Amino acid sequence: MRIDGACTCGNITIEGEADPAATSICHCTDCQTATGTAFRVSIPVSGATFKVTGEPTIYIKTTADSGNPRAQAFCPKCGSPLYSTTPGEGPQALYIVRVGILRQRDQLEPKRQIWWRSARPWVTGLEGIRKLEKQT
Ligand SMILES: [Zn+2]
Ligand SMILES: [Zn+2]
Repeated sequence: MRIDGACTCGNITIEGEADPAATSICHCTDCQTATGTAFRVSIPVSGATFKVTGEPTIYIKTTADSGNPRAQAFCPKCGSPLYSTTPGEGPQALYIVRVGILRQRDQLEPKRQIWWRSARPWVTGLEGIRKLEKQT
């Protein structure tokens, strides 16, 4: 499936081909800190189809929960998280794109949850939390 999207300010755009069935949630503590929220939703995009316009800022996290260094890309203007990949120059084999920036996010339902051991305990109880259609 074709996916495309942009950061909050529109400075960076992303596009590529992705398998919706590979959409997943990550509950690792790195994702919690990097997003400022409880978990991250991502989808893999092969390097052969991945295109980015603009110049993302890359932060290399050398002590990721997984033990592998990861390049975390975000917009230098608005700070939106964009994707992670293997560190290095030029195109990489795989990009893990943040679903929240994609126009197709309605069609990208997570199929698995990883790093469940550090999931916030309340994520299973969202149904029971009071809901407002808008802010008030
Ligand atoms: Zn931006
Ligand atoms: Zn994670």
